[in-house]
Amino acid sequence: MSSSAPVAVVPPLGLLPLARTAVDRGSDRRVAADLFEQIRTNPATRVMYMAGGKALINSTEVVLAPVAETGFGDVPIYLGRTLADAQEPAGTDVVLVTLAQEDPLLEIDGARWASLREVAVLLGELDAALFVEAAAVSNWHAAHTHCPRCGAATVPEQGGWVRRCPQDNSQHFPRTDPAIIVAITDPQDRILLGSAAAWKGNRYSTLAGFVEPGESLEAAVIREVAEESGLTVHSPQYLGSQPWPFPCSLMLGFTARTEDTATTPDGVEISDVRWFTREELGEAVASGEITIASGISIARNLIERWYGGPITEPEVEAQA
Ligand SMILES: [Zn+2]
Repeated sequence: MSSSAPVAVVPPLGLLPLARTAVDRGSDRRVAADLFEQIRTNPATRVMYMAGGKALINSTEVVLAPVAETGFGDVPIYLGRTLADAQEPAGTDVVLVTLAQEDPLLEIDGARWASLREVAVLLGELDAALFVEAAAVSNWHAAHTHCPRCGAATVPEQGGWVRRCPQDNSQHFPRTDPAIIVAITDPQDRILLGSAAAWKGNRYSTLAGFVEPGESLEAAVIREVAEESGLTVHSPQYLGSQPWPFPCSLMLGFTARTEDTATTPDGVEISDVRWFTREELGEAVASGEITIASGISIARNLIERWYGGPITEPEVEAQA
């Protein structure tokens, strides 16, 4: 039981765009049965709105509105208290209200509905933290409405951080799916990038995959690389993580090495894998021959850490 503020921990990979800590999630507050009653009557309380995975955004900020007369809706989620920020005083309670559809009446002062992918790079520390948290937990509610034991409809509790089954009293907690992502290098310090069969265009990225039940992160790195590229890697080193709420992943970034350079893409998930020197990658991206992951992704951060700095893209290239 603690209300101390989260501390920013800088992993070897540096501060990642979606790994923010500007919200004190206030887990001590969630247990109060009358939490939403208490904060609803506080004029300082702010509401973040989402609908269909999009949040209400004004220019480069998440709209944090006063509590409406209609209240918080069916599944309010307590996002926590703000830490110091230019926009809101520290200690402001923020509630996520999820609407069945976008409400045009809320689009005042140029506010619009936008996805996290669209606006992540525009947002400040607090707003990015709120949007990542809100997206992740609301995705869980949307996909976990019923009890996995008996099939009864479950009921949100504890500020929206638990769902309880009224039939068997079981509690169900928000789920996060760990996925490893790995920058593989060979003895010449080239990097291996793969192109997924499902991707449009000539896009290349670091290999990645979900951790399976009963598997360590390191074992997942070795297995995924072998499956997707045919390579045997060793010495997986953890570099940092960031949530990736599309819909519920946690990306765990690694490096790994191989002496083996003959690749065999699986041909199903991965259609091609290629080794790049720094010069080759720089040229391939600059010329538009290939595209790489956007700046908000851990993949881009892994690639640029190996590259030694930002990779320049053609001016007009729109990133997915
Ligand atoms: Zn049940």
